[in-house]
Amino acid sequence: METFDDELTTSLQIARRAIPKMTQRKVPPTPDNYRVWYEYCIGCNEQLAEKINKLISSDNVFTPELNQEIHKKYFGKDKEKKLVEEVQRQASKILKTILDDILSTNDLAADYANKLKDYSSTLDDASHLSQIQDIVQDMIKDTNQMAESTVRMKENFQKATTDAENLREQLNITAREALIDALTGLNNRKAFDKRLRELHGAFEEDKTPFSVIMLDIDFFKKFNDKYGHKIGDEVLQFVGSLLYNTLKGRDFPARYGGEEFVILLPATVLDNACIVAEEIRRRMSEKRLKHVRTGEGLGRITASFGVAEIALDDTIDSLLERADKALYLAKDSGRNNVKSEKDVKPKGTD
Ligand code: GH3
Ligand code: MG
Ligand code: MG
Repeated sequence: METFDDELTTSLQIARRAIPKMTQRKVPPTPDNYRVWYEYCIGCNEQLAEKINKLISSDNVFTPELNQEIHKKYFGKDKEKKLVEEVQRQASKILKTILDDILSTNDLAADYANKLKDYSSTLDDASHLSQIQDIVQDMIKDTNQMAESTVRMKENFQKATTDAENLREQLNITAREALIDALTGLNNRKAFDKRLRELHGAFEEDKTPFSVIMLDIDFFKKFNDKYGHKIGDEVLQFVGSLLYNTLKGRDFPARYGGEEFVILLPATVLDNACIVAEEIRRRMSEKRLKHVRTGEGLGRITASFGVAEIALDDTIDSLLERADKALYLAKDSGRNNVKSEKDVKPKGTD
């Protein structure tokens, strides 16, 4: 077992490696950033290591937005965990209030019942009017007390109900937010995965076809380098609204990550999905971008598209892999074009 000293030595060794790497790339040592680079230096999170290595080798600037995005991507779950704990705390507070009330009112009611029994037997034994007057007086006092406590309990119940309703509303908002990409307002990767699982499940049941379009903005790194990350972000927002405005009701656009987007097209076969992709490609490439505030011309942006349709025996991964291959063929074929899985298949296997 690792001793406290071992643990201290190891974490100091990792810190000695992480901090210079962060300083060299001007990454501020905030707790979130430190966590990313600490984990990177440990090296057991393969995906994180691959991502950072790629960013380093392409000389990427670690902007605050990028740092935040990496942290969110790899450690975002912690946030959800914290949220669950907070909701548990609030819900159990409401439950405790109700329970305490019920228990104390139970005690009061039992007490009250015993008193009533006593009054009843004292009443039987009473021989003077004044004795009966006293009993009635006490009965009124105790009954009032009981009534007051019932009113208090009703008020407390009402408050607990309002608290629970507020909590429910808050949870609904949070659940919706958890499925939305903060930058573009489109569905996020999590929402996409969920919808894709649903469509795949339905396909396995009744063979309703569906297609997927993957698109990746061309030379976006160059665009960022030329105009800055902030304008780059605004372009991603533009792409988000272009997708939103071009697609019909059932179609499901999502930000897949970075400058990659995906669209799920329920009840749509490959050829029709290609028509949709082509329409988006055309609209995007025809638009001359202009910076809203400065009026500066930003040229145009284009994207490459890969399209695939669900097939028998497909898993979710095999479908996405075909769309991804088609996308890379579109990149290799000069970018700003649409390729489908049919284009990828070697001749003679159709
Ligand atoms: P290709 O045509 O081959 O796709 O070239 P590319 O430059 O688009 O591709 P590459 O994968 O080399 O770089 C993607 C760039 O996208 C790197 C990064 O700066 C940028 N990017 C990723 N996410 C964001 C983001 O949230 N905001 C901004 N502004 N840029 C982003
Ligand atoms: Mg990309
Ligand atoms: Mg790209």
